[in-house]
Amino acid sequence: MPRERQVTLPECVQHIRQVPMERRISEVIIHHTWRPTAADYHGLSTVRGVRRYHMQQRGWSDNGYHIMIGPSGDIFLCRPMSRAGAHCRGHNQHSIGLAYIADFDTENPADCPAVAVGQQVVAALLERFELTPEQIHFHREYANKTCPGTRLHLDEYRHQAELLMCDHTDSIKVVLLPGSQTIPCRPHLEDGTTRVDLRPLATALDCEVYDHLADQGKVYVRRRVQTPNNPETLHH
Ligand SMILES: [Zn+2]
Repeated sequence: MPRERQVTLPECVQHIRQVPMERRISEVIIHHTWRPTAADYHGLSTVRGVRRYHMQQRGWSDNGYHIMIGPSGDIFLCRPMSRAGAHCRGHNQHSIGLAYIADFDTENPADCPAVAVGQQVVAALLERFELTPEQIHFHREYANKTCPGTRLHLDEYRHQAELLMCDHTDSIKVVLLPGSQTIPCRPHLEDGTTRVDLRPLATALDCEVYDHLADQGKVYVRRRVQTPNNPETLHH
């Protein structure tokens, strides 16, 4: 009986690095479920529901997708990656299919923390199978559909996934959620503590470094104050 399981991001990356594969992978194909939408999501039972639909209504042996991502970034390993999926006609033999539980025709990907989590998973897939970001494809390139949604942009998606790939000099990335902005704050590990440049991180969080009192060993960070561009117009 096919089974899906929820995993953490590190578990997922570890799985991708180690899973035995006999088929060649030449592309990663991104989908959205459209229905269920993010609002319909109820954890594992929603993922099971997709699998049941694929098995009972479509007659497939398992969930058509290999990986599904819930709206808040929950990760589910579905069909084993060692087996060809059933998610993109004519492209299943040599691909991995990843689906967001979302409707990105209407839902805004910038509000959805899942997008960046999915990109982390995709980056791990690119590394494992030695692919380039150009080998990330959207389902709509191959079918007369909008999948994975008109509000998701391929170039931007590829770019963000590329930023999340490990390079050997700087393997930690700080990613702002929701959304998928990668912050260039030079994160590095030091004795198990992640140290970052504060200024770019504060800027990304719409804060500013206000003062640095070296003798107290304190750095003050404050929220930026919103001031109207032209206060006089407020009175008219
Ligand atoms: Zn699709």
